[in-house]
Amino acid sequence: MHELAIARDLLHIIDRTLGADNVRVLRIDLAVGAASGIAADALRFAFGVIAEGTRAHGAELSIAASPARGRCVGCGILFEFEGMIGVCPACGKLGGELLAGDGMMLRAIEVADV
Ligand SMILES: [Zn+2]
Repeated sequence: MHELAIARDLLHIIDRTLGADNVRVLRIDLAVGAASGIAADALRFAFGVIAEGTRAHGAELSIAASPARGRCVGCGILFEFEGMIGVCPACGKLGGELLAGDGMMLRAIEVADV
């Protein structure tokens, strides 16, 4: 389950971002690429497990899907991927070079003073 590793990374990033501030995390705003293979529900579950006992315990994970974009290796146009594999809308070639949407981005952390 690679969401567990992602949740662990996410918690590290949050910890680093917050530093030594004595706060409680209420909400985490994420953008997950459509071609990242990350399942939102699995990530939510994994984060709940990982965050147990930390200041992010009980935080709400808001996960928005960001589109994946790629370039066709056949005709070179830019197009939006659907899922992990792109099919060029112009020439129909399968595959394509993924340019964006294969990762996860932390957009905002909402905190409250303890
Ligand atoms: Zn093409």
